[in-house]
Amino acid sequence: MTMESALDTAREQLQRAVDLLGLSENDWQTLSTPRRILEVAVPLRRDNGDVEMYKGFRVQYSTTRGPSKGGVRFHPSIDMDETVALAMLMTWKCALTNLPYGGAKGGIAVDPKDLSERENERLTRRYTSEILPIIGPERDIPAPDVGTDERNMAWMMDTYSVNAGYSVPGVVTGKPIVLGGSLGRTSATGDGVVISSVEALKARGINPAGATVAVQGFGKVGYWTAIGLENLGLKVVAVSDVNGAVTGFSSVADLWKYFTDHGNLNMPGTDAMTQEELLHLEVDVLIPAALSDAITEKTAVGIKAKIVVEGANAPTTPAGDRILIDKGILTVPDILANSGGVIVSYFEWVQDKQNYFWSAEEVKSNLNEIMMRSFKEVENTATTKKVSWREAAHMIGVGRVAEAHKLRGLYP
Ligand code: GLU
Repeated sequence: MTMESALDTAREQLQRAVDLLGLSENDWQTLSTPRRILEVAVPLRRDNGDVEMYKGFRVQYSTTRGPSKGGVRFHPSIDMDETVALAMLMTWKCALTNLPYGGAKGGIAVDPKDLSERENERLTRRYTSEILPIIGPERDIPAPDVGTDERNMAWMMDTYSVNAGYSVPGVVTGKPIVLGGSLGRTSATGDGVVISSVEALKARGINPAGATVAVQGFGKVGYWTAIGLENLGLKVVAVSDVNGAVTGFSSVADLWKYFTDHGNLNMPGTDAMTQEELLHLEVDVLIPAALSDAITEKTAVGIKAKIVVEGANAPTTPAGDRILIDKGILTVPDILANSGGVIVSYFEWVQDKQNYFWSAEEVKSNLNEIMMRSFKEVENTATTKKVSWREAAHMIGVGRVAEAHKLRGLYP
């Protein structure tokens, strides 16, 4: 069995949407080609004086519907192909949610856990200065992704601003509030996964109150998802981090406190389990909210959840997806389920442009409106076209980008 790469998967999903939409070979050529790819060398002076070179990437997959938009990932395994795949997903995600953006992604092949705070800052600043010519509030707006957070965004905003000679908060989103960040951005991806989970349960006729959930991942997405679902009265029975999974905790809030104090999930009174055991729990909702390739040909077979809600980007391979479909499991795809992050990023960018900041309630209710609209569009398309929710989501996203291409025409 050969593992499909993230790029193969993304291209396969695009091909399927192109076929379902009846688009032409010309459309396929336009839609399957990333617009701008930049690979940079990022030298880092370590605290001990040594110099190390890292590879940095920024891919602007599409700018057809607006400036490109997407996160910056710090992870040892990131490469150009994966960055292209993730930038492609951002393109369909922004189109599906009808944000006025294209799609982008960037990253550095580094494990941030190996960096001191100062090293992380130097690396982030140098990466920013290397990609400086192609980013900007009207061109391409980075944001946090796996391995980066609001600190990295503050350094990116500062590096860009120092070079511009004035403060440019709108160059990145996911910034600290005092630097022009938006209320509600930190929890936004998780909040969107919560909305998706509750709506998917209702769509399947299951009462969300008391429904059981397993969450793979306890980071920026997993934590906010788990606590959000618990606060709504759902029962989160298991969560995991990179080191393994745990069950038998009294509440997500207690576990989080232990996790932040001790840096691990081995809270006394809980039971450890493997990642695979978590994936195979008999729950109503399974939420992969860690990295890609969690649900594969191998792991999908044992999944007993009724619904899978994809908090992570590309957690399911095409072979895994086919198995879930055959088992009658409803999958809410990544580009819908985790779109809350980029939706509130959009709100942040709008607020920065206007220098006028919204209340938490305003952010929440606007996020809810866009999530619900997108959710209903996907559900209706899946029903009327008799396709999976993933196919429906891609049809809507890809269809909007294709239409914008046609209307803009080809220059010259
Ligand atoms: N990294 C997030 C995603 O994959 C957010 C991107 C953004 O806010 O621009 O959707």
